[in-house]
Amino acid sequence: MHLIIAEKNISANRIAQILAGSEKVRAVKDGSVSTYSFDTKTVVGLKGHVVEVDFEPGYTNWRSEVHTPRSLIDAGIVKKPTEKKIVNLIQKLSKKADLVTIATDYDTEGELIGKEAYELVRAVNSTVKINRARFSAITPAEIRTAFENLTDLDFALAAAGEARQTVDLMWGASLTRFISLAARRGGKDILSVGRVQSPTLAMIVDRERAIENFVPQTYWMLSLLTEKDGVPVEARHTAGRFTDHDAALAAEAGTKEPLTVTDVKEGQKTDRAPTPFDTTTFIVAASRLGLSAANAMRIAEDLYMNGYISYPRTDNTVYPKSLNLNGILETLRGGVFDADVAWVQQHRRSVPTRGKKESTDHPPIHPTGAATREALGQDRWKVYELVVRRFLATLSPDATWTTTKCLFDASGEPYTATGGRLLSAGWRRVYPYSEAKENILPVFAVGERLPIRKVNLEEKQTQPPARFSQSRLIQVMEELGLGTKSTRHEVIRKLISRRYVEGNPLRPTLVGRAVTDALDNHAETITEPEMTRTLEEHMQLIKQRERSRDDVVDESREMLHRVFDKLEAHEKEIGDEIMGQTAEEHTVGPCPACGHELRIRHLGASQFIGCTGYPECRFNISLPGSTWGKAIRTDEVCKTHKLTHVRLIRKGSPPWTIGCPLCSHIASNIEALRMMPSMTDSLVERLHARHIYTVSEIAGMQPHDLAGAAGIGAEEAGQLIREAGGALDILRRRSELRKFIRKIVPPKKGRSHAKITKSLVEQGVGDIRALSRSDSAVLKKAGIGETPAAELLAAARGLCNERTLREAGIPAVSLKKYQAGGIASPDDLCYLPVPYLANKTGINPETVHKHADMVCRHLGRPAPEKVTKTALERGRKELLAVPGIGEATVEKLYLAGIYDAATLREADPGEVSSITGIAKTRIHDYISHLK
Ligand SMILES: [Zn+2]
Ligand SMILES: [Zn+2]
Repeated sequence: MHLIIAEKNISANRIAQILAGSEKVRAVKDGSVSTYSFDTKTVVGLKGHVVEVDFEPGYTNWRSEVHTPRSLIDAGIVKKPTEKKIVNLIQKLSKKADLVTIATDYDTEGELIGKEAYELVRAVNSTVKINRARFSAITPAEIRTAFENLTDLDFALAAAGEARQTVDLMWGASLTRFISLAARRGGKDILSVGRVQSPTLAMIVDRERAIENFVPQTYWMLSLLTEKDGVPVEARHTAGRFTDHDAALAAEAGTKEPLTVTDVKEGQKTDRAPTPFDTTTFIVAASRLGLSAANAMRIAEDLYMNGYISYPRTDNTVYPKSLNLNGILETLRGGVFDADVAWVQQHRRSVPTRGKKESTDHPPIHPTGAATREALGQDRWKVYELVVRRFLATLSPDATWTTTKCLFDASGEPYTATGGRLLSAGWRRVYPYSEAKENILPVFAVGERLPIRKVNLEEKQTQPPARFSQSRLIQVMEELGLGTKSTRHEVIRKLISRRYVEGNPLRPTLVGRAVTDALDNHAETITEPEMTRTLEEHMQLIKQRERSRDDVVDESREMLHRVFDKLEAHEKEIGDEIMGQTAEEHTVGPCPACGHELRIRHLGASQFIGCTGYPECRFNISLPGSTWGKAIRTDEVCKTHKLTHVRLIRKGSPPWTIGCPLCSHIASNIEALRMMPSMTDSLVERLHARHIYTVSEIAGMQPHDLAGAAGIGAEEAGQLIREAGGALDILRRRSELRKFIRKIVPPKKGRSHAKITKSLVEQGVGDIRALSRSDSAVLKKAGIGETPAAELLAAARGLCNERTLREAGIPAVSLKKYQAGGIASPDDLCYLPVPYLANKTGINPETVHKHADMVCRHLGRPAPEKVTKTALERGRKELLAVPGIGEATVEKLYLAGIYDAATLREADPGEVSSITGIAKTRIHDYISHLK
């Protein structure tokens, strides 16, 4: 059997389909892992890395005295399987294989993944031949060529990957532990440090500092507005920026008619077609389409796996000679790009454009297969179209412009205006992503005089450097040699998920700054790009077999030991600096009640803002539970309360901005305060001035204290406290109503349960009892459809009935028996005859009578008639003795209150018939028999 190991399941499937040609591929699932077989071949996919590097056992305890963070530098490193099922399957298949081909991606990471597979195979089969297929696109031509030209695994390339893996683990783990322990952080709050991550973060922090320290300079720009044949033309003073205000004013004053054209220069400009995509330029272009770096790469990898585009991790910007450009153009014919491709084929530039970087492993990113918008879906199509159009643009002629530059003289002050007109669109026809702005000037003749319509002196300020966008940061990382084409976007994603940076463009958080500053102050090696760049250079040497993996790793170990010399000498300072800066993270501002600091507190699932003056000051503001997101402060400050804004952040969902916590606290409680009949605006103001914001605070106060705080009489205060209690009760019932609705009515977009409840309250339905008495028209108005409305009403009625019965004192056990017998409402108990109830539920008639009596009394209704057990048994015999009356008839008669001969004799046949459904004549017969 020939075993082929691909990088992912999806590529395994495609490779199998391509190699099988017209033969049918058998897909089999072994456990949860698929294999694809045909002929004597079986293809199986990995999940990228299926093993990971870790320290040998014994290093898990962070606080171990023996295994300190520094000891991790020299700890032994082992490989552990992370995907056990795949590992087991590969080894099972390897035992039977007589040839194994590694068909992972062709780059350092792919070679390392291939080597991991190689080791798994070798562990169980020491003799089987193992070779390697290399390809840059999963297309029939590429795959077939690769399998016709199988080579060996490149162990030097894999060793470079291994060196990086080991160094990353060593640096990341030891430094993360050291810094986290120094700052006394653990669990979810550890402070991660990384070889590429930390210098990248430092760049973002440095940029932020440059922005903060930026002192804007004022300058002035002078322009004038003239016109010709009704076309307005703006001309700028040739001095450009005036830094001297007086000079600008003088030039403005000197700008007078006549305005004379002194020179007109026409020229041509070539607008070069763009160069082929490498990973970085691709990410930059995709970001203009609104895709984050990580997202753009994820989609590109997906398109690669499915054979639509070539391998997206490449540093190459020059098409190799072997790439069949004509063939690719043909592939794209026929679809939505047909007209564009035809145009490119007709107007092909002699040589495709080329960028500065040329490497041999992969070609630049290009399309490899035709696709449709329907098959790909919106985002994947966006990326695919970008790659196709870029490819077309690199084969298209340059665009050309005619340019016009005019010089004017306004009584001695020189002005200029430039225009541009697109002469031939060239590549811009097929690549509409960068806008070409034309500015067509009227035709001017030298010596011509023009009017001055307006002179405009504008005051401007120099701008601070811009924050990094994700794509800009990736460009700079590449320039500095930080990370690789495969890892840069991942590094940024990690910085965001570790809450070191936020927003787009990227800004450092307080923690991100604190960690960077501490490292900068005590071990700048970690935050400077040199160390990382050195490693990338060393990896190149490993690939070229000029250095060994162990040699490079040992050198890195030495470097890390020197870093630890410095860190350990300043452990306490580093910890104090980080803790000092990050305490701010939780500090919201001054307590309005006492002036101490307010801090965000997290207590299990609940969180609130509390006063550091506690317990003397009990001021606090409640926040939504942490299931809604962890509360953090932002840099924005409320002008009224001097408190920083608060935001809830939760992984995977957009942040919930609460804003100023006190403003939000006031706003969410004001409506409840106004529910109190005696509450006035001025009273609200006085209460706020004393930091009383909620109804429950008032309800919990003593009249004397409230009178003092609000400046009112004790009697009035007592009334307010009672009203607060009433308002609380209404609120409690409303919230119960909302929860009840939430249980029954399914959520729907644009119809939150809060919205439904609000509409019901406005219609006078403020609690579950009112709901049970309402109808479907009311519910419809609140946005609830017919079926859920019926369900809701039934449930509300059921619940209210049960409540009334309980309140009346019916024990839970009996209640169950009544419900089982179909007796659900208090009315049933009050109005149905005791014999009927007893018979339906099997409860002793005396007990039934007692219950019915309790319910009637509770509802203020007349007491029911009493029937004893003996009377009922005797009456039953009497009734059954009457000819024609059987068990079924007795039960029906119970419903009409007839339970013995006496009650039957006195009954009105017409009434009994209407209640029981027994024919009137038959009832007559029964009665006449008794007489
Ligand atoms: Zn306080
Ligand atoms: Zn506020």
